[in-house]
Amino acid sequence: MKICVLRGDGIGPEITAEALRVLEALRSDGLPIETEQALIGGSAVDASGVPLPETTLTLAREADAVLLGAVGGPQWDGLPRDQRPERGLLGIRKSLELFANLRPAILYPELANASTLKPEIVAGLDIMIVRELTGDIYFGQPRGIEQRDGQTVGYNTMIYSEAEIRRIAKVSFEIAMKRNRRLCSVDKMNVLECTQLWRDVVSDVAKAYPDVELSHMLVDNAAMQLVRNPKQFDVMVTGNMFGDILSDEASMLTGSIGMLPSASLDAADKGMYEPSHGSAPDIAGKGLANPLATILSVAMMLRYTFAQEEAALRIEGAVKQVLADGLRTADIYEEGTTKVGTAAIGDAVLAAL
Ligand code: NAD
Repeated sequence: MKICVLRGDGIGPEITAEALRVLEALRSDGLPIETEQALIGGSAVDASGVPLPETTLTLAREADAVLLGAVGGPQWDGLPRDQRPERGLLGIRKSLELFANLRPAILYPELANASTLKPEIVAGLDIMIVRELTGDIYFGQPRGIEQRDGQTVGYNTMIYSEAEIRRIAKVSFEIAMKRNRRLCSVDKMNVLECTQLWRDVVSDVAKAYPDVELSHMLVDNAAMQLVRNPKQFDVMVTGNMFGDILSDEASMLTGSIGMLPSASLDAADKGMYEPSHGSAPDIAGKGLANPLATILSVAMMLRYTFAQEEAALRIEGAVKQVLADGLRTADIYEEGTTKVGTAAIGDAVLAAL
């Protein structure tokens, strides 16, 4: 089980340190885990001038899975676009062909008050958003800003091939099969031809999954339904841009971005696992960051890349135990619970494990 660890920037090193302790505990219990570290993002720019050095990419390619902290920070915001830390992230996703981004939005009962929505709307929420990650308007050509008829215009291309839609649809149906067997595909077929193809292909893939109940929803309605009645969803699948927006919306339903893991998978279940949040430069280096999203990302890694369901459940169980014991980092703190820092909540997870 070769894992490439990319700590990244901001709180990245602090939160991955706690996840590494969990991996070390599993290793001493007998899982054949090997880890190796490399640079990505702003720290890589500082060390080598580029956000995704070739050595990092080689290590990531050779590994079975990648664990990433987070990248970015204000000190790199002024750099040219191709040197920005976020380019490292887009680059590694594209190079490893990580086309399926899985983002669960789960609201632990202990944290029901963290949501800005009424507890009865969100209590027990457990949805999975599958976002296509390597296509769509974010990568489509042609793109640019140029002069046309004396005016400056900006333009991008929304494009999906049938094969790209088919493979993300398959991943989504497979996940739905392991959950409550309901899949909602989100598009904008009333306006965009590209997403008419999306709907047609998803409907075709559905024929191989008669046990999954497929529905379609326009993206504007999906954005409304997510705040009106989010528990109607089990698995949602959508393209890169709609998924970017809807998965952030869904994560905020839980009110605690520091709790949410994510996975990005290729066709062979190799994956990159990372928390859904960013590098939180405002709290970096202060020992305040919540490492649970990163620790839960390790659980997803064990489940999806290494097929170690038992170890995944063990980690998730340990996190639930820590919450039930009333320990909270500042981002999820409420009166009546005990506020602790990054390392202390890591200690508690290890003890519960
Ligand atoms: P952010 O997620 O880093 O922070 C948003 C807010 O949530 C901040 O107040 C932060 O303190 C808090 N927060 C986030 N994670 C937390 C945690 N684990 N524990 C406690 N509090 C936490 O988003 P942002 O402020 O918009 O972006 C900051 C930097 O991160 C930017 O440079 C951005 O480009 C980058 N970013 C990186 C990724 C990634 O690496 N995948 C994703 C999003 C943003």
